[in-house]
Amino acid sequence: MTETESEARNVTILGSGPAGLTAAIYTARADLAPLVLEGEPSSTTDQPGGQLMLTTDIENYPGFIDGIMGPTLMGNFRAQAERFGAEIRTEKAVKVDLRATPIEIWTSAPDGLPTYTTKSLIVATGAQSLMLNVPGEAQLLGHGVSTCATCDGFFFRGLPIAIVGGGDSALEEALFLSKFASSVIVIHRRKELRASKIMQDRAIANPKISFKFDTVVTEILGTTKVTGVMVADTVTGITEELELDGIFVAIGHTPNTAVFGDQLDRDVDGYLVTHDGTATNIDGVFACGDVQDHTYRQAITAAGSGCMAALDVEHWLEDHSDH
Ligand code: NAP
Repeated sequence: MTETESEARNVTILGSGPAGLTAAIYTARADLAPLVLEGEPSSTTDQPGGQLMLTTDIENYPGFIDGIMGPTLMGNFRAQAERFGAEIRTEKAVKVDLRATPIEIWTSAPDGLPTYTTKSLIVATGAQSLMLNVPGEAQLLGHGVSTCATCDGFFFRGLPIAIVGGGDSALEEALFLSKFASSVIVIHRRKELRASKIMQDRAIANPKISFKFDTVVTEILGTTKVTGVMVADTVTGITEELELDGIFVAIGHTPNTAVFGDQLDRDVDGYLVTHDGTATNIDGVFACGDVQDHTYRQAITAAGSGCMAALDVEHWLEDHSDH
């Protein structure tokens, strides 16, 4: 059993994507000596550095005229936070008691004493794309397999691609990608689209977009980059190979909120609810980035909300300096 640190931290940040590390930079520069629990590498969709660790070139993050690689950008965020004194630990919260004063965080055995206590908490645990979990997908992520049309669409100029999913995200991304790609096939597992009527009408009217209904992807093909996909018709069982340069997976996202149980208010889609900036329903607990945003989901908006959370924490600590 580990002992709890004797002193409560001023602020602890859960997560190390653009939101968490921006919050770390700002709180470190405010002399709050933040502790960042960056998470632990556990899968292709849940890892320190967040979703940008899964992309290659980022061309729309302001300030980098020639673009920057996702992992390089996150390495820079991290180094900048450490330069100002943020302490970053490769640990993941497995249990939290947000009603305790100070707040209690366990990163190892949840039955023992809490690992850390903290006066305030910034939740920046992000969201992860749901994945198909078919052969080839994990290996080719960032090499033709993408979960972000806004990030990667530009790389498929003049090339044939497909998008998997039948919801608003899939059709919105198909419409966006049709500006770049030579053709976009929407692969959907049922005959009826889940997307709203207006999105369906727009996609159907787009001459570059075609549909493969009752179809699932069974394998993504390619060694160093995507060359095609194997698909199967769910009605006839017939399989075929589609030659493609890219495959976008748009079957939904899930916010990383499991560790909070019912302690934090969530909306109908499971995202944390914030009010008055980044405040949650619990005093002293703030949330930023994709864990509370299913609309914009961009690195720059996540970083912006991380800054907001840091400023909110600073004011909150000033108002609660007797704690
Ligand atoms: P979604 O509505 O949950 O749709 C996910 C789609 O992926 C569904 O068509 C689903 O198929 C399919 N799918 C799920 N798991 C799959 C799997 N393992 N293999 C193959 N297909 C799978 O998710 P979303 O499109 O990301 O949208 C989420 C929310 O944001 C929705 O409320 C949506 O309206 C909203 N949104 C709105 C806009 C907009 O208004 N512009 C844009 C984007 C998102 P089934 O249909 O068979 O379940």
